[in-house]
Amino acid sequence: MAPTAFIAGNWKMHGTLAEATALAAALAAGLGEVAGREVVVAPPATALAAVGQAVAGSPIGLAGQNVAWEEKGAFTGEISPRMLRDLGCRYALVGHSERRHIFGETDALVNQRLTGALRHGLRPVFCIGETLAERESGATLTVLERQLMAGLKDVALPAPEALVVAYEPVWAIGTGRTATEEQAQEAHAFIRRILAQRFEKGVAAHIRIVYGGSVTPQNVDRLLAQPDLDGVLVGGASLKVESFLRIIHFQA
Ligand code: PEP
Repeated sequence: MAPTAFIAGNWKMHGTLAEATALAAALAAGLGEVAGREVVVAPPATALAAVGQAVAGSPIGLAGQNVAWEEKGAFTGEISPRMLRDLGCRYALVGHSERRHIFGETDALVNQRLTGALRHGLRPVFCIGETLAERESGATLTVLERQLMAGLKDVALPAPEALVVAYEPVWAIGTGRTATEEQAQEAHAFIRRILAQRFEKGVAAHIRIVYGGSVTPQNVDRLLAQPDLDGVLVGGASLKVESFLRIIHFQA
């Protein structure tokens, strides 16, 4: 576990302005002491400004759910790193499985987004993970290596904190079927080995690798007791104040 665990809530396409603001305000009010944890929420882009105001003065940070690679230009429907920074975001998700599998984002496009985010001062939360068919055919580690090497092509990290890698097995996202601690630890240790080939060993040791896929208050403690798990990326359970607060206050 890293000295500062990374706990992020991905709100996906949920929440009107009023709902997102109420959720953010309730989280900020209930958060309490968060030593050793960095807490981030990724609301829909439409609610980023309002959520930013609702969490102002609290330790909760903001992330975009995706990011373009140019500062500005003819990219209809996209949001630039500069726009996200303007709204107070420090992070942006890239390569989320819903982007890859519903919207057809390729490893090359994910690499473009990731390098663009870094170039323009945003920290990518780089999501990777195998499908059920890939796991069942024994291809998990090969898929993770391919996604890592392609996504990190030409990436030079200013510091280990500038990158978070999220291991999110596709079969575990939104399904209620969580990876076992052993499956998660095996994947995270493998990811760390690849990062050590790609960057200096000292840097790789400090890049936070977080797990995502049906994380709940019931399973977070045993997942985060694993040595190579440095936090969690939470979808469904981050939309309920009590569950997300319990996850933030995990006991590992
Ligand atoms: C996610 O969206 O990144 C995610 C992990 O979702 P869930 O927690 O709902 O599985």
